[in-house]
Parts: sequence; structure tokens; C-alpha cells
Amino acid sequence: MSKTKSRDHRGHVQMAKLRYKCVTGKVRFRDRREAIDALHRTQLNAERQREDFGTTRRSETRCYRCPSCRGVHLTSLTSYITAPNPGAR
Ligand SMILES: [Zn+2]
Repeated sequence: MSKTKSRDHRGHVQMAKLRYKCVTGKVRFRDRREAIDALHRTQLNAERQREDFGTTRRSETRCYRCPSCRGVHLTSLTSYITAPNPGAR
């Protein structure tokens, strides 16, 4: 009768959790469409906030492909790398 030995997990790479987190700490979207969808909702909320309170802290205006996580983020900055995408939108 032997007790169940606890297995050690050597060799298991713990990358699964990191995959969905970006170094920027920003909200990550899978693709551009998802980001734009969220952007529209954000802008709608911002518009409502401006009507109700006269001001808003929501200022996300565009999305960009993140080079470090390969995801898409929203940003209020316009000075970020402007990727050439003629014809898009
Ligand atoms: Zn990222």
C-alpha cells in the first residue's frame, strides 16, 4: 500500500497564461474587427457621458496591431505607428 505520490511538473512550460496577457497591460482583442466593435461601444458610451455629464474620460479613438502580443489594442494616441492600410475603411 503506497501513498499516491505527487507528481512534479518539470518540463511543463507555463506559457498558457501569458498568451492572453500583453506587456502593455492593455485590453487585448483577437482581431481588428473585435477591437473596432469595442471601440464603437466605447465611443457610444463616451457620447452619452458627454451628454449627461458634459465630459468623458473615454478617449480611445483608434486601434492598432500590437507588435508584442500580436493582438489588437485601443488607443487614444494618434502618434502611434501608422500602418499603411490603403482602402481600409
Ligand atoms: Zn499587445
